[in-house]
Amino acid sequence: AQHFLARARDHQSLGAYVAVNEEATLAQARAADARIAAGTAGVLEGLPLAHKDIFVTRDFPSTAGSKMLAGYQSPFDATVVRKLAEAGAVTLGKLNCDEFAMGSANENSAVAPVGTDAPAPVRNPWDTSRIPGGSSGGSAVAVAARLAPAVTGTDTGGSIRQPASFCGITGIKPTYGRASRYGMIAFASSLDQAGPMARTAEDCALLLSTMCGPDLDRDSTSLDVPAEDYSRSLNDPIEGLRIGIPAEFFGDGLAPDVRAAVDGALKEYEKLGAKLVPISLPRTELSIPVYYIIAPAEASSNLSRFDGVKFGHRAKDYTDLVDMYKKTRAEGFGDEVKRRIMIGTYVLSHGYYDAYYLKAQKIRRMIADDFQQAFAQCDVIAGPVAPTVAWKLGEHGADPLADYLADIFTLPGSLAGLPGMSVPAGFGEGGMPVGLQLIGNYFQEARLLNAAHRLQ
Ligand code: GLN
Repeated sequence: AQHFLARARDHQSLGAYVAVNEEATLAQARAADARIAAGTAGVLEGLPLAHKDIFVTRDFPSTAGSKMLAGYQSPFDATVVRKLAEAGAVTLGKLNCDEFAMGSANENSAVAPVGTDAPAPVRNPWDTSRIPGGSSGGSAVAVAARLAPAVTGTDTGGSIRQPASFCGITGIKPTYGRASRYGMIAFASSLDQAGPMARTAEDCALLLSTMCGPDLDRDSTSLDVPAEDYSRSLNDPIEGLRIGIPAEFFGDGLAPDVRAAVDGALKEYEKLGAKLVPISLPRTELSIPVYYIIAPAEASSNLSRFDGVKFGHRAKDYTDLVDMYKKTRAEGFGDEVKRRIMIGTYVLSHGYYDAYYLKAQKIRRMIADDFQQAFAQCDVIAGPVAPTVAWKLGEHGADPLADYLADIFTLPGSLAGLPGMSVPAGFGEGGMPVGLQLIGNYFQEARLLNAAHRLQ
């Protein structure tokens, strides 16, 4: 723990950590040492971990990257945090992310990283003039720069897979409902899912086995399926594994350098005895408008709780209750969050609900059905995580659509609720890392981790 705290201090300019509490960390570490000495060690005893600042934690402030939650201290730990702590993990601190996990570049955080007094972008350690990806940007950077051995992230539309790909690490988003959402500050509840990010599939398997499992009293969408030991099947042979290659993931929009790295990884799989099977996910393109209707709709509802009454920011000067709501929300939320609240409120409003929201829900179902047809022909699906390598800080400027379009390959799996992961595949333009995305059918996390491990 001391080693990683010191590294985090030495690399504050990356902007990965938004909260540390060395006293609390070292107290946890000493307790872990005592359990090891007493012979009562848990499976993760003494392992230092850091959490995306979207999970609430008792020992550290929880902000979700927002001014709205500046100074907020949760009275409880998120279920995922609690489970990891009960297995013996030691918390190093909280990691930067896009505000309420809305973003693809970690340029939307309103929180000042540790060691600074103003919000600053998180930097990709492979090239500090580039973005790390988002929204779990701080998480990916912490692992890539060895400021933590492993971390948690969350993925609503790609926020574990895409930053993992951009920073050259491994990350997995399990089947929707596999890990509890209790204590995960909500963005889009039908999509949000927690997962580990680490150097290898082996490390991810270790963490995921602890993070998953039912939590029905606290999260009604958590699935009543017992946790699995994902480490057991890591070395299973993959001869004969049918890997589906969706034509729509390899079209004109895919940068040639990314394509070359992905093709290289697929060749490795062929050498290991896997078979590449051409498949089609015909509604891939529609996943962007569908996601950017459904996710903001759910966000507009979830974020209505931030009204200045019960917790978080409250405006100082106001004339009456409505004025207090308005000023609190105008001051507390950043531009991207406001944009999503407006889109979400619009698509849910009377007269537009059928035209946008309901239609998006129907297409969401069709996208899920397309995957089931594909899985009749293959065991896992492989393709790129993102169309390009990590772009330059500020490159997408004030154009949110440029960020949205870059989510095209991660959104389909999210909308279908499928498990997906990113595993390092090679390098592209500027020597930047490229990830290979693996998507599995429901509950096929073990198979994904097995396939990823064999590549590593
Ligand atoms: N980039 C997507 C968005 O901005 C996904 C974010 C996420 O998965 N949290 O909504």
